[in-house]
Amino acid sequence: MSAAPLKSDLPVVQDTFGRPLRSLRLSVTDRCNLRCNYCMPEEEYTWLPRETLLTFEEMTTLTEFFTELGVDKVRLTGGEPLLRKDLPTLMRMLRRNPRITDLALTTNGVLLAEQAQAFYDAGLHRVTVSLDTLKPERFKALTRRDMFESVLKGIEAVGQAGFKGLKLDTVAIRGYNDDELTDLIEYGKRMEAEVRFIEYMDVGGATDWSMDKVFSRQAILALLEQRYGHIEPVIEDSSAPAQRFSLPDGTTFGIISSTTVPFCSTCDRSRLTADGMWFLCLYATQGVDLRQSLRAGVSRDEIKARILAGWQGRADRGAERRKELEPLGIRARLVEIERLREDPRLEMHTRGG
Ligand code: SAM
Ligand code: SF4
Ligand code: SF4
Repeated sequence: MSAAPLKSDLPVVQDTFGRPLRSLRLSVTDRCNLRCNYCMPEEEYTWLPRETLLTFEEMTTLTEFFTELGVDKVRLTGGEPLLRKDLPTLMRMLRRNPRITDLALTTNGVLLAEQAQAFYDAGLHRVTVSLDTLKPERFKALTRRDMFESVLKGIEAVGQAGFKGLKLDTVAIRGYNDDELTDLIEYGKRMEAEVRFIEYMDVGGATDWSMDKVFSRQAILALLEQRYGHIEPVIEDSSAPAQRFSLPDGTTFGIISSTTVPFCSTCDRSRLTADGMWFLCLYATQGVDLRQSLRAGVSRDEIKARILAGWQGRADRGAERRKELEPLGIRARLVEIERLREDPRLEMHTRGG
């Protein structure tokens, strides 16, 4: 058993907009076993050199610096995090840190059936599985891999392992899967999972993105209201990216409306890539190289001071700034392919989504 969370002695570290440093997305690999067309549509990718990937010890140490500055929520992501060997070991190492009150995982589910129990036993709190379709052929076309059955088995394994509060994340794309949103809600009910619809984002890596493919929060609500009747917003005080709603039968679902209704004003999240680059925003083009500091033997206090200064100087509001381009008619994909090849850290699959 880990000790009670040490909250009272924590400073509240705030950025220039008063947003606290609370949530860290830790990418454990940039590799992936799917090729979702909204994330990795290209044929070729430049991978991070293996020797630059943080070891579990380095990840645990860096996470400790963050938690000493106020982070209490950590989400493991990727690439596909389950491709990283011995993930339960990392989970156990992180769970020894009593300041982490919420350790979560986002996965595409392909390898989950074989690992869910080990994750539960290692102390992982919560699982989110990405699932965009319930049609095997469509899954194959969307991800360029024939893995649909493995994902369904992975989702089933989550509850069987003992986890509660499963979330299913669906990127809603016009013309791809907008005809399946109610089927996904119904599937979520059967699996005791809350479905969250994510608007298609113009992030680095989404080289096929265009505004006309975004199935907006407004369109999602209109479609679901047609099928289910009146939908109520769930009133809650939360910095979570999803706004939650309730159907007449009490079923809840979420919408992450980063593209049409950004929520940067409450964003307490930052991201650490698998090679130790710290990004203060999903849209940031510059990061802070924490691996280099760690491997160069920079002291614990000095690295913490760099993180503190980084967060206190944070003025990022990437999604809001992207939205400002819309009235000008110049909103298009964020980064050109050539630039992504030169700097793979600009890719969504490298910084963790
Ligand atoms: N591979 C894991 C997975 O797919 O769950 C974890 C990493 S993935 C980058 C994290 C999340 O980012 C996924 O839920 C994925 O759907 C989402 N994502 C990737 N590209 C996106 C885009 N262009 N717009 C919206 N969400 C996106
Ligand atoms: Fe799909 Fe996740 Fe892989 Fe991106 S990182 S291609 S969203 S499975
Ligand atoms: Fe946070 Fe940046 Fe996303 Fe806005 S765009 S919610 S600041 S990560």
